[in-house]
Amino acid sequence: MIGRFLKRLFPGHMTCQRYVDLMTEYMEDDLPPADREIWERHFHDCDGCRNFFTGFKNSLELTRYVEEKGVPEPVRERVERVLVERARRRREELRGN
Ligand SMILES: [Zn+2]
Repeated sequence: MIGRFLKRLFPGHMTCQRYVDLMTEYMEDDLPPADREIWERHFHDCDGCRNFFTGFKNSLELTRYVEEKGVPEPVRERVERVLVERARRRREELRGN
């Protein structure tokens, strides 16, 4: 599990970029509870990540809705692509800083 690995490497000091990297795992409920907590704490404290996540969360809710309602696979894939693309752009923003 990548989250546990990152936690060992950066105990309490994950950079914004790493948090964005973990966003998809967070979305998919793939993070262990301890990592989830660290992740949520960072997004609570970090303005940049929080602003980004606000938009992201709307998309996340859309994804959940899409999954629950059993929307056709092509639509679901498109929503996922948008999410991945947003995360990628945020990573590039962070890299540019
Ligand atoms: Zn941050």
